[in-house]
Amino acid sequence: MLVDSFEVQSPNVAYSDEHITSTYEYASTKLDRAPDGKWVVKPTKATYQFRVDRKVPKLGVMLVGWGGNNGTTLTAGILANKHGITWMTKDGLKKPNFYGSLTQAATVRVGNYEGEEVYAPFKALLPMVEPNDIVLGGWDISGMNMAEAMERAKVLDWTLQEQVAPYMRDMQPLPGIYDPDFVAANQEERADNLVKGTKREQMETVRQQIRAFKEANGVDRIVVLWTANTERFAQVAEGLNDTSDNLMAAIDRNEAEIAPSTLYAVACVLEGVPFVNGSPQNTFVPGMIDLAVKHNVLIGGDDFKSGQTKLKSVLVDFLVGAGIKPTSIVSYNHLGNNDGLNLSAPQTFRSKEISKSNVVDDMVASNSILYAPGEHPDHCVVIKYVPYVGDSKRAMDEYTSEIFMGGRNTLVIHNTCEDSLLAAPIILDLVLLAELITRINLKKDEEPAFHGLHPIAVLLSYLTKAPLVPYGTPVVNALSKQRAMLENILRACVGLAPDSQMLLEFKA
Ligand code: NAD
Repeated sequence: MLVDSFEVQSPNVAYSDEHITSTYEYASTKLDRAPDGKWVVKPTKATYQFRVDRKVPKLGVMLVGWGGNNGTTLTAGILANKHGITWMTKDGLKKPNFYGSLTQAATVRVGNYEGEEVYAPFKALLPMVEPNDIVLGGWDISGMNMAEAMERAKVLDWTLQEQVAPYMRDMQPLPGIYDPDFVAANQEERADNLVKGTKREQMETVRQQIRAFKEANGVDRIVVLWTANTERFAQVAEGLNDTSDNLMAAIDRNEAEIAPSTLYAVACVLEGVPFVNGSPQNTFVPGMIDLAVKHNVLIGGDDFKSGQTKLKSVLVDFLVGAGIKPTSIVSYNHLGNNDGLNLSAPQTFRSKEISKSNVVDDMVASNSILYAPGEHPDHCVVIKYVPYVGDSKRAMDEYTSEIFMGGRNTLVIHNTCEDSLLAAPIILDLVLLAELITRINLKKDEEPAFHGLHPIAVLLSYLTKAPLVPYGTPVVNALSKQRAMLENILRACVGLAPDSQMLLEFKA
């Protein structure tokens, strides 16, 4: 059974016009080693207060790479939903939806009513921006308007494109920062809509563009998300981009090694605008992270977790969690869209390879019954560009595991899917959740005042392949843990305990 919305009645929760305030007892553990070497686990309790602003802002979302496959698909998808556009295909009449979006199309369990499990939409947990209310905009180094860019992307059915195109023809991406040294040479052809000047001037232009967008559209808040081409990794060097001061000085010196994505991110932080990175490159060099922390502005990333990696972070979690030992994981992809074209250059492919490579680390580390220290499954990732398949990416994975008594288990998975139809709902979730996170404040025990969550938005991990976390804190890749972290923190904000799955009320 689905309920649209609910309100929690508890002495621990108060709803005012402005806020939802909750008191939450956080149960955890503390580990110690006794003098005799025995491990001692002590249950701990801490009290947190959460306070969420109930006023949902008018939100502007600016995409870097707006005119790409993801950007056009998301834009058309939102417009189709907003205007209730239906379209015919050979399979019949299609209606718009937000399938694939955690916030819009997934549910959370809220309890049991007369023996029946009751669920609510994920978005009913806390007040969130409605997708149809978002004002979209952004940058692209290609000057095509959004209707033409959608046609170039070849993702959506033509009869749908025909109906959304009139809304998109006047949508014109802003000129973007282009540096051919950071993307594949084959991107040069589309680069006709560029911000000129030195790195400092380019960064300042982006700041102005953000302010102008806010002003022109009367939005209260803006979130910026990078869905532009994958860049190569930037070198990280002492004195160059290792601290925020050095990064700013390097921008002033017009240092070649400062990537366009980092310039956009710096501009956002200086404007107090959250920035999410949907591609694998190291936009968030140490100096950039330092800057975001100093200015207390949300940053999140890296690289959308849409298809192959999402399944990997479920499957390997299941195998290792079942006591089965994956020993070899081989992942092939081929795709024929512009992302694939850009990734056909070794330096940009390398960024993707890195972001895809660490995804099983936490699961392997969780079970040293199976893995000796330092032992790791063989893990290989291959990506090939095959123009004919367009956006319809093929992912072929082979998982070989050791099972009981020297046995072997090999799983082979073949996935075919429009890449951008997986990514667009994830982009939506990232921007909606990034905005929501900025409205969550908390304080622990005797802390005197509420403050925001850490500016590195670990809560977005569920949606990213290589989650960015504060230095020295655990990286969680297992999908179910990432979802539980997000859901449970949102539940805590309304004074609900994590869903323990114990169903004790039916067992006594
Ligand atoms: P795309 O090539 O169709 O779109 C990228 C757009 O960015 C292009 O229109 C390009 O002109 C523009 N661009 C490039 N550099 C720019 C810059 N510096 N400033 C402004 N615009 C710029 O690619 P896509 O399929 O939309 O994917 C976008 C990104 O998302 C890629 O980096 C891809 O690796 C990443 N990604 C995609 C998925 C997925 O499932 N689709 C999953 C994970 C990550």
